[in-house]
Amino acid sequence: MTQLQSLRGMVDLLPAQTRRWQAVEAVARAHFQRSGLAEIRTPLLEVTELFARGIGEATDVVGKEMYTFVDRGDRSCTLRPEGTASVVRSAIEHGLLTQGVQKLWYAGPMFRYERPQAGRQRQFHQIGVECLGVSSARSDVEAIALAWDLLRDLGVTGLELQINSLGTLEDRQRYRQQLVNWLEARVDQLDADSQQRLSVNPLRILDSKNPSIQALLADAPTLLEALSDESAQRFKSVQQLLKQLAIPVQLNPRLVRGLDYYGHTAFEITSDQLGAQATVCGGGRYDGLVQQLGGPPTAAVGWALGMERLMLVLEAAAAKNPDGQAARLTATPAPDLYLVNRGQQAETLALVLARQLRAAGVVVELDGSGAAFGKQFKRADRSGSAWAAVIGDEEAEAGQLRLKPLQTEGEERFFALNDLDAVVAVLQTTTDGRFASENQR
Ligand code: ATP
Ligand code: MG
Repeated sequence: MTQLQSLRGMVDLLPAQTRRWQAVEAVARAHFQRSGLAEIRTPLLEVTELFARGIGEATDVVGKEMYTFVDRGDRSCTLRPEGTASVVRSAIEHGLLTQGVQKLWYAGPMFRYERPQAGRQRQFHQIGVECLGVSSARSDVEAIALAWDLLRDLGVTGLELQINSLGTLEDRQRYRQQLVNWLEARVDQLDADSQQRLSVNPLRILDSKNPSIQALLADAPTLLEALSDESAQRFKSVQQLLKQLAIPVQLNPRLVRGLDYYGHTAFEITSDQLGAQATVCGGGRYDGLVQQLGGPPTAAVGWALGMERLMLVLEAAAAKNPDGQAARLTATPAPDLYLVNRGQQAETLALVLARQLRAAGVVVELDGSGAAFGKQFKRADRSGSAWAAVIGDEEAEAGQLRLKPLQTEGEERFFALNDLDAVVAVLQTTTDGRFASENQR
């Protein structure tokens, strides 16, 4: 029989990885909580029309990357390729927009039929933020700062924040014409992809990853030059506020989101560790989307970061600085206690003891092998735990356990099995009062 495998571009997260993911997710959740954001969870499957209308037919995502199928009730369904459209649909459907500003975050899998490579999968994961009902330059900067501070707190280094302004719809239409004129005069220098975009979605050409197109565009007219005074002023405010928050920023006049409803601030956070797939986080203002999906006129700003790419930069940061925050987050946490046990009565007592200690918050690795003590102690050492508790026939007979420090030369001590508080107190002296289960930050 042939071995079954996961689908191309669909990746398993194995235990060593899920631990890291959970650590990162916990940091993100704490950030969102401190910033007054609430979590929203929407279905993975939506009607296809949501994305066709929300993202736009002319985009790569809708044009060639969606997982779309007809269900048994003859509806065209699509696995969500991104989170924003679903969040906006949900906010409209449940009347959230009549209840004041909505500051929301989400996390979960997204699906795009792309060519898989490092940092690019067909099922990938995003953490995202959407702030609905906010229009000020300040709200743009608050959203950007949230992403920036989260990445900084995770210990990720080598990041660059790039921003641009896409102005208003009129600004973009004016610019679009200038760009098309300029590109049409150089159409023979465009690759097939860009030639096709020229008629459908010319701004998207600015986003081309082809180096020769990027070189050609160096002299092209820029959106920044086409901004109205008002848009330029708004963009200046954003930059000044970022400066006040001491967030370094790189102007990138070719940064686009390429869709009609995106306007004003667009930004990306890139890493120098990722090669071609350099963007970890992307976002911007999308004041037109809510209305486009049938809701009331609602200004909005948001971003999404790619978990797979974040984990790659986090691992690079951990390798570079073994004592830093990234290394701490990616390390496999040791249990607080390794429970060595052997003998019929001892093994039952150990099972009971492990359960009681776990109820008290202690992370206990219970050796279930019944193997020789020497073997169990080797595993205890390998676990990285600071302590081993030992119960053998003698201890069981005496109603005791033996507590042995594994990382220091200290003395062994005996405790009555019914005096767990004393055991817990000793364990806490090595963990600053916190056990491994709460120790990820
Ligand atoms: P790219 O230009 O790299 O394709 P994008 O503009 O399509 O990115 P967005 O739709 O803005 O990406 O999604 C936000 C983030 O989600 C990206 O910056 C990236 O980190 C991540 N991401 C997007 N597509 C994928 C994918 N196929 N695999 C892994 N991560 C992805
Ligand atoms: Mg893409």
